[in-house]
Amino acid sequence: MGLRRLKIIGNGDAFGSGNRFHTCFYLESDKTKLLVDCGATAIHHLLESGINLNDIDLIVISHFHGDHFGGIPFFMLNSYFLTGRTKPLTIVGPEQCETRVEGLTEALYPGLNKKFREMDLTYLEYSKTIRFSDLEIRALPVVHSPPSNPHGIRVESGNNTFSYSGDTEWTDSLYDLSLNSDIFICECNYYESKVSGHLNYKILKDKLKKVKSRRVLLTHMGEEMINSDQVAHETTVQDQEYDF
Ligand SMILES: [Zn+2]
Repeated sequence: MGLRRLKIIGNGDAFGSGNRFHTCFYLESDKTKLLVDCGATAIHHLLESGINLNDIDLIVISHFHGDHFGGIPFFMLNSYFLTGRTKPLTIVGPEQCETRVEGLTEALYPGLNKKFREMDLTYLEYSKTIRFSDLEIRALPVVHSPPSNPHGIRVESGNNTFSYSGDTEWTDSLYDLSLNSDIFICECNYYESKVSGHLNYKILKDKLKKVKSRRVLLTHMGEEMINSDQVAHETTVQDQEYDF
């Protein structure tokens, strides 16, 4: 019982550095299939990866920036018009999740929220631990642009734990978030530049010495990170699958 499989659908930063797709991680447990973040480019690569959108039960959003939740309206478009989705879809995110997703949809496809609401959609917010089928999902606030309501995410199932920093500067809450994880995915946008709301490798590599996770993968890397030959930690690889 537990998490079975992680596939990296997108691992890029907001700028498309290295021609990488925006953040989207596909996770599978014994009973549930979910996306952790669904960035603006997710739909292309989900389809290319052969993932059936109708199989996905849950979309978990770390924060309200386009490279992390901008793909949801396209997910809905495909589900409503092409596949006629009847399976329930639950979207989990920070406070005002439904308003934010519907606001984005209204901006991109005015009037379509009414149709999308015909699907079996449920929105849940991170006020407490969320129990969904065989999953427990917790979110901790992190340090990024406040209007995006940034969170790190922890998904547990059976004996397995997946954790993800979201976009953030270093905060000690990442120690709790990642404690005893099988896989901890941590953003590392820069190698040495200090940019508010993001991590750089020079700071992160020391902090990681105290992180208690079986495996750490760096993600959301900009050109500085992609081009550095000084990175000693494992990085996410698009299309790669990881077992638990
Ligand atoms: Zn981002």
